[in-house]
Amino acid sequence: MNYSLAERFVSINGEGQFAGLLAVFLRLPGCNLRCSYCDTQWANETDCKVESLPKEEILSYVTETGVQHVTVTGGEPLLQAGMADLLQSLSLLPHVQVEVETNGSVDLSPFLKAAPLVHYTMDYKLPQSGMESAMHLPNLSLLREMDTLKFVCGSDSDLTRMGELLDKHNVRVPIYLSPVFGQITPADMVDFMKDTALYQVRLQLQLHKFIWPPEQRGV
Ligand code: SF4
Repeated sequence: MNYSLAERFVSINGEGQFAGLLAVFLRLPGCNLRCSYCDTQWANETDCKVESLPKEEILSYVTETGVQHVTVTGGEPLLQAGMADLLQSLSLLPHVQVEVETNGSVDLSPFLKAAPLVHYTMDYKLPQSGMESAMHLPNLSLLREMDTLKFVCGSDSDLTRMGELLDKHNVRVPIYLSPVFGQITPADMVDFMKDTALYQVRLQLQLHKFIWPPEQRGV
């Protein structure tokens, strides 16, 4: 079986619990959502240029880089056929930890079962994304302490909605909160965290958007 890749490169992880670490990025094309603030829309277009590689070649590429962290991203990577198998194989490479970024709409249970060593970083899409209705809510109780729940907020009403969700669901994973770049100030987000006693939430800024131009690819 071959896998489609829109990009592969080495850079630093821009966000989440592995922010700042060098990582091999594997970007898979295609997404089932259309978020208002998507910064990788080009990878979701049907005419996106891809390379088609067998699993063995992907594993060799990762090993040859010598980098010990793999970030599988998209698009929505879990939609591609055979992903559980690829994730499982990546996670069994010696000295390599694997993280997959997923958009919150795909049922995680089969992946957690098939590839339990992988760290799942899951978005919950808030109202401003326009995609909240696609969220697969049972995932919230499947995430483990080694996983991450991520909220990207674009407005005060997004912050309020995040607060409601955290009140309602007993989420026991690291929770990260980041701004839609240029749409809400981090200072306002800190004020909200203080006002609503969000002690379990960590504010993060996407490192790569400060190091390189926000629209630059392959970083
Ligand atoms: S889920 Fe991610 S890749 Fe898909 S549209 Fe939303 S931001 Fe873009």
